[in-house]
Amino acid sequence: MKPSSHRAGELGFDRSRVSPNAFSVVQRLQEAGHDGYLVGGCVRDLLIGRQPKDFDVATDASPERISALFGRSRIIGRRFRLVHVTFGRGYNREIIEVATYRAPPENSSGRKPGGRPVRSRRGRILDDNVFGTIDADAVRRDFTVNALYYDPVGETVLDFVRGIEDARRRTLKIIGNPEQRFKEDPVRMLRLVRFKAKLRLKIDPHSARKISQCAGLIDDVPGARLFDEVFKLFHQGTAVEAWKQLNQTPLAGRLFPQTVECLEDGEPGHRFGALVEAALGNTDSRVRSGFPVIPGFLLAVILWHPFKTEWKRSGKGRMNRGDGFHLAATRVFERQSRSIAIPYRVRHIAIEIWKFQQWLEDRNPRSIVRLMEQRRFRAAFDFLVLRQATAEVSPEVAEWWTEIQESDRHQRRRMIQCLPAPSGRKRRGGKPHKTRCRPSCGRGEHNKIR
Ligand code: ATP
Ligand code: MG
Repeated sequence: MKPSSHRAGELGFDRSRVSPNAFSVVQRLQEAGHDGYLVGGCVRDLLIGRQPKDFDVATDASPERISALFGRSRIIGRRFRLVHVTFGRGYNREIIEVATYRAPPENSSGRKPGGRPVRSRRGRILDDNVFGTIDADAVRRDFTVNALYYDPVGETVLDFVRGIEDARRRTLKIIGNPEQRFKEDPVRMLRLVRFKAKLRLKIDPHSARKISQCAGLIDDVPGARLFDEVFKLFHQGTAVEAWKQLNQTPLAGRLFPQTVECLEDGEPGHRFGALVEAALGNTDSRVRSGFPVIPGFLLAVILWHPFKTEWKRSGKGRMNRGDGFHLAATRVFERQSRSIAIPYRVRHIAIEIWKFQQWLEDRNPRSIVRLMEQRRFRAAFDFLVLRQATAEVSPEVAEWWTEIQESDRHQRRRMIQCLPAPSGRKRRGGKPHKTRCRPSCGRGEHNKIR
């Protein structure tokens, strides 16, 4: 296949955006007599005028040869064998991923020479570690804009699939037959949604239509891979848009069946939708400001209403509150894990955040200080604030928790003293004391707990 060749400068490429380390990897490969090109997302980003976040290199050299050419390098991966070349240390560390050209894993028997199957029964690619030529490497990529080859030394760009034209039309288009490409790897549907949200591109209508037909294929993807892909969708700074896009396809119902059921539930669903959107908006602000984000927090939000519904249901039986809570949480996560595998630590964080909600609302004077010292307090408080913004919690409670965090030790003690005793519980030693709160508290006389 003959590519079209373009001068990078004429396409508006800004070479200063290319990492010097990536440049040196390409240069070293070329000096050793091999091909060396920047590929994938970094070339796409340069073409549409964005700063790439990382750099991938493609070459005709084998992984062993690449590894021999670079000092700090390591062959990684089972499904794809590639080489990580490392530069710098600590905060300045940069890894350039170098891959040997691969071919689509076609052969007549559907098996590799060793007898291993190449595809699943429904056509999903299980093993695509077949080396190939540059044009084969181009057509096995997902979208035309992701299949450009940029040589930063010679300043040329090779285009085998009319990716430059699609980038000009700001369109994401699947290479080849969308249905077949989704069958080979259903995650490509999620990648379309992700890049549409992140890069504000359109999806070519034919590829978009096929998502609706092929959404069910996502059920075949191992849950652990879905976990990674779904959280990439939410942690790239455009989660609100990605969630909106996802919900315009049947993929949302496949990935988060309980959430989608709750969202369709009239007025409560409407409020739940607002809560999810507010949380995603918050996540976007944090990502853009460089603050850490944790999947456990978003899962706590996304599964909140399914969990509450389940908890209410378990409360109708004879079960006590604590057992009901755990049973409901287990059931909700069990069902969620049928599509996306949730690592134990992530699920644990979400459940802790849920547990905190009742404690934060109760404001038991004896537990306040202990709660504030706990590791999950801040995330649980953020969750409470979101619930308040969607009228699930009284503003007074959220304001009280905000104020106590900003107060010094004495003010804290006074605020705690002003709280009413938790209902149904008595102070040890008889009747509660009466005390007058400071005027700003505005709550008159309350029981004093020492
Ligand atoms: P990002 O900016 O998020 O890193 P990216 O396009 O570089 O975007 P990667 O996951 O780093 O995404 O993949 C690098 C390249 O590998 C892609 O641009 C694409 O060419 C190819 N690729 C990745 N995933 C697939 C897939 N599922 N099917 C086909 N090609 C893929
Ligand atoms: Mg990338």
